[in-house]
Amino acid sequence: MPERESSVPAELRTLLGRPMGEVLLLGHANPDGDQLGSLLGLGLALGQAGWPVTMAGPHPVPEPLQFLPGAALFQQWTAPRGPFDLVVVCDCPDPERTGGLLEGAVGPATQVVNIDHHPDNKRYGTVNWVEVGASATGEMVYDLIETLGLKITPEVATNLFTAIHTDTGSFRYSNTSAKALRIAAELVACGADPALVAGRLYEARRPESLALLGRLLQRIQVSPDGRVAWLPLPAGSAPEAFLEAEDLVSYPRSIQGVKVSILLKEMGDGRVRVSLRGKGEVAVNAIAARFGGGGHANAAGCTVEGSLDEATAKVLSAVSEALKRLAR
Ligand code: 5GP
Ligand code: MN
Repeated sequence: MPERESSVPAELRTLLGRPMGEVLLLGHANPDGDQLGSLLGLGLALGQAGWPVTMAGPHPVPEPLQFLPGAALFQQWTAPRGPFDLVVVCDCPDPERTGGLLEGAVGPATQVVNIDHHPDNKRYGTVNWVEVGASATGEMVYDLIETLGLKITPEVATNLFTAIHTDTGSFRYSNTSAKALRIAAELVACGADPALVAGRLYEARRPESLALLGRLLQRIQVSPDGRVAWLPLPAGSAPEAFLEAEDLVSYPRSIQGVKVSILLKEMGDGRVRVSLRGKGEVAVNAIAARFGGGGHANAAGCTVEGSLDEATAKVLSAVSEALKRLAR
C-alpha cells in the first residue's frame, strides 16, 4: 500500500505556528482512546510551546484512560464556557456530540479547528482537516506536531500511541497501515511504553469483572450461516463503568467466519444503543446510517427505538440485506 501523504493544511500551520491567545481543546461525550489521546497529546504539546491551554469536555475521563498523561488536567464541564481565541476539536464528526459546549466556546473571532478521520464529518470548523485514510486522529496529530516542530515528549508520545493503539484494535484491524505502525514505532522511540498501555487497557480487571464478562458472553448468538454474531444486553445487566471499560463488541467479532458483529445495549428508556463492527467486506456505517447513526466502514453505531428484541430484529434484518448484496 502506498504511504498516505501527510497533508497538514497550510492555514493550520500558520494558525498554530505560534501562541496567539487562549486555546480550548474540546472533547465530546463518552470520549474514547483516540479522542482523549489526540486531545491530551496535542494539548500538552501546545502547552509546552507556550499556549495557555484548557482541556475540557462534557464527560469525565473514563477510569481505564485515567493513566493518560495530562488526564488530571482534563475538566468536565456541565455548562458552556468561553469564548476562547481558538478551539480545537479532535476525532469528533458532529459538533452536537460536544453537548452544546462548542457553541458556548465560540465568539465572533474564534477559530475552530476540526481534526478528524470520520467519513461523515460535518465540517463545522473554520479550518477542517479530515483524512479518512488515517487510522486514528492520533496519527494526524502526530503529523501536526511534527510539522509544527514541537517536541514529542514521553507524555505526548503515550497519548498518541494510545490513540492509534485503540483505534486499530491494538494493531489488528484493517486500518493498521504501514504509516500507523511507523508512527507507533516513532512514538515508542519517543518514550511511549506499549506494555504499560496494553496493561492499563486490558490487564487491569478486577476478578469479579472477568466473571461478569464470562456470564455476559454466554448471551452471544450466531446466525445460522455463521456470518453475523450479536450480543444483546438487557438493561441493568452490567454496571456502566464495566461497559465503558470493556470492548464487548469485539467478542462476537472474534468468531471465525463472522463478517458483522453487533452489540445491542438496552438503555431502559425504549431505546437501544447499537455498536456495529465489520471486517472490510460489509460497510457497517451504511447500516448504522439507516437508523440515523454513522461511523467508519468497519466501526459504526446508532440508536434504535424499541425493545431489545425489536431493535435486534430490525438491525439483523438490515445486516442480512447488506450481506445479501455482498453475495450477489
Ligand atoms: P462505538 O460503537 O464504539 O460507539 O462507535 C464506533 C464508531 O461509530 C465511532 O467512530 C463513532 O464515532 C461512530 N458512532 C457511534 N455511534 C454513532 C451515532 O449514533 N451516530 C454517528 N454518526 N456515529 C456514531
Ligand atoms: Mn478515531
